[in-house]
Amino acid sequence: MKREKALVVFSGGQDSTTCLAQALLDYGAGNVACITFHYGQRHGREVEVARQVAAHFGVADHKFINLDWYSQVTDSALLNPQVEIGKDAAAACPNTVVDGRNMLFLLIAAVYAKRQGIHDIIIGVCETDFSGYPDCREAFVKSCNATLNLAMDYEFRVVTPLMRLTKAETWALADRLGVLEYVAANTLTCYNGIVGAGCGECPSCLLRQRGYDAYMAGKKK
Ligand code: ZN
Repeated sequence: MKREKALVVFSGGQDSTTCLAQALLDYGAGNVACITFHYGQRHGREVEVARQVAAHFGVADHKFINLDWYSQVTDSALLNPQVEIGKDAAAACPNTVVDGRNMLFLLIAAVYAKRQGIHDIIIGVCETDFSGYPDCREAFVKSCNATLNLAMDYEFRVVTPLMRLTKAETWALADRLGVLEYVAANTLTCYNGIVGAGCGECPSCLLRQRGYDAYMAGKKK
């Protein structure tokens, strides 16, 4: 087990919850903090779910940051209830992309981590099923990590446990960590704000369900 501390960028979704379970194993329960952002998501439930899930895992240090001004500078469908979420999974850049989101999250997480003497920042981004989100790619994360180190003259390590995993492999990881059933029932990934299996129709639910089905089908063999 590592002795240092880690800060998890935490949304209460499948990916960040799996990252949190892994971090608790790697760093030890008392050494993991979470940071959650409210940025005007169309479903305000995400923040409440994040609070409940982190509490379930016994995270005592959970910081909430309000970025609800973000909708003033982006027209992402995720922040605007008037815009219908695009269902075209093949679109190069879906209209749920929130430009700059992970960069902003990592900047604020890094400032907060440095203040606490934390070097490791864990974020559940993934470029395998990245759905056209450019700031989920490894090239971006590496570049952002280097920039943060230069910006604050401090050695951050942005850790991305899911970067190379498919959604099915993320479910497999949750299973190995003993949290598959909890993640399936209690996390929120759905763009329509429905916990667990979700609405079953939005692109996020479809990706999550396809991965789950693929993992379960492989498990039965
Ligand atoms: Zn959904």
